[in-house]
This record gives sequence, structure tokens and C-alpha cells, in this order.
Amino acid sequence: MGTADLPVLMLSCPHCGKSFPSAAQMDRAAFATIKIQGMRERCSACLRASRFNKDDYFFVNDEGRS
Ligand SMILES: [Zn+2]
Repeated sequence: MGTADLPVLMLSCPHCGKSFPSAAQMDRAAFATIKIQGMRERCSACLRASRFNKDDYFFVNDEGRS
């Protein structure tokens, strides 16, 4: 469907250090307009919840799948 450049909103877990996809997926334009402060998200690797601020979020391009 031509979605090779679809960005995925990610977080780095402070407990296990792994990256995991945020529960709040959105595109870059939407992300630029919102405020995120003290957002609780749970790591998909170690299942521990943490609080994140907007600076903790980053995008990766999900281009590994086809
Ligand atoms: Zn973790």
C-alpha cells in the first residue's frame, strides 16, 4: 500500500533500555502540535510503566517491513 515511509513513534525504556512503540501513535505533523508531559506508558519488553515527556519521544521509519 505504499506505506514504506510510515513513521513510528517510539520511546526508550529507562528500566531495560530497549526501545518500544508508544501507545499514542500519530504522524509527525500531529506530534508537533501536541503537548506531552508526564505521560504514562508501559514498555512492551519489560512491562514496567514509566512517565515520559515530549523530549523522550522519537520517530523511526518503519521501512524494514514489506
Ligand atoms: Zn523496558
